[in-house]
Amino acid sequence: MPAAIVLGTQWGDEGKGKAVDYLADGMDLVVRYQGGNNAGHTIIAEGRLLKLHLVPSGILYPHITSVIADGVVIDPAVLLAEMDELTQAGLDVSRLLISGNCHLIMPYHLALEKVTERFLGKNALGTTKRGIGPAYADRAARIGIRVQDVFDEKIFREKLDVALREKNAVLAKVYHRLPLDADKIVSEYMAMAERLWPHVADTSKLLHEALEEGRNVMLEGAQGTMLDLDHGTYPFVTSSTPVAGYALASSGIGPQRVERVIGITKAYVTRVGAGPFPTELADHDGDRIGERGQEFGTTTGRKRRCGWFDAVVLRYAARLNGLSEIFLTKLDVLSGFERVRMCVGYRADGQDWDDVPPHQSLFHRAEPVWEDLPGWSDEISDAHTFDDLPAPARAYVRRVEELAGVPVSVVSVGPAREQSLPVPA
Ligand code: GDP
Repeated sequence: MPAAIVLGTQWGDEGKGKAVDYLADGMDLVVRYQGGNNAGHTIIAEGRLLKLHLVPSGILYPHITSVIADGVVIDPAVLLAEMDELTQAGLDVSRLLISGNCHLIMPYHLALEKVTERFLGKNALGTTKRGIGPAYADRAARIGIRVQDVFDEKIFREKLDVALREKNAVLAKVYHRLPLDADKIVSEYMAMAERLWPHVADTSKLLHEALEEGRNVMLEGAQGTMLDLDHGTYPFVTSSTPVAGYALASSGIGPQRVERVIGITKAYVTRVGAGPFPTELADHDGDRIGERGQEFGTTTGRKRRCGWFDAVVLRYAARLNGLSEIFLTKLDVLSGFERVRMCVGYRADGQDWDDVPPHQSLFHRAEPVWEDLPGWSDEISDAHTFDDLPAPARAYVRRVEELAGVPVSVVSVGPAREQSLPVPA
């Protein structure tokens, strides 16, 4: 049963790119299972800095087949540009396979998201404006266009005409924008189809066969558990489903295949955009974490909100995803604090909570119950083993395990592959 799911346990940006890159070494296939080019993985591998938005991080290894599964939405122009960039960096992208069932991001998705976000004013969600939400909405409304549709121009044209009839009316009559031209879209997408064709495959069948042969498959999520469409802080969430269950639905494989569920967890918490965030720091400590951790979005460059570690959120993620282990990232960022804080519970409306409150208004009002731990002054990014870490840093990791009820298998102390320390049981 050699499938492993790797996902974020917070609000995204947990350092999944680095963790997946480290874990990918022992894998044969790496599968991206949701989201679109709103995710950004920054990876440093063999001294090279690479930013990936759509292509699974497995692409860095010559022995790995990288797969984009059904539940991902694809902007073909972005995907092709990313493939070109990787090729220029000397990587072989011929092993990238895309499901024909993936939905396409169309020019009207981008156009509409831009105007609707503006229309929402102070209620705007702060989306990345890449057309991802509108593409998922059309998928659910069954007027989406899929990768496989571009290989039949007649079908593509028919579906486009149906979609454009409504989209152009909305763009022109509601938002006073120019309507989009169908012929232009057809010629652009047909040109891109030619380049995509060699990469399109029946990925669910391929994964099934790989698993039957005992090959190792890693299913890689984007964003994080607290941004899940159902289980996150709706509506301040992403438009797809990062939790572990969806890895299977999207890839088209069964639950009995999964052996490990690895939760990527940052040693503190960050969040981009609006929505509840109980441990947020509006003080010098928050700025310091943001600066040391370089907390600016890979895709958007936006400054992230920063706060202390939240064990309630991690316990919630452990429960929702059935985590078997934790990969704890960016512990090095916490070096130099006299004391480090962990949120071990919430207080809201005079009541104590040891889990995420079931009502969002309570979550908005939740005040952290803090536990203070001694900090460590030494930089730890050159540690080679877990035992090299100062005692307070090791104690911090052990406390994370206790509070989550899940073992930490690896601690990351820097962005490079080798700055990953296996944790003894
Ligand atoms: P992702 O979307 O979850 O991969 O998150 P990001 O792209 O925001 O990645 C986090 C950033 O932190 C990247 O720039 C990584 O190179 C970097 N990073 C990952 N792990 C560590 C770590 O343990 N320590 C430090 N200092 N940086 C890290």
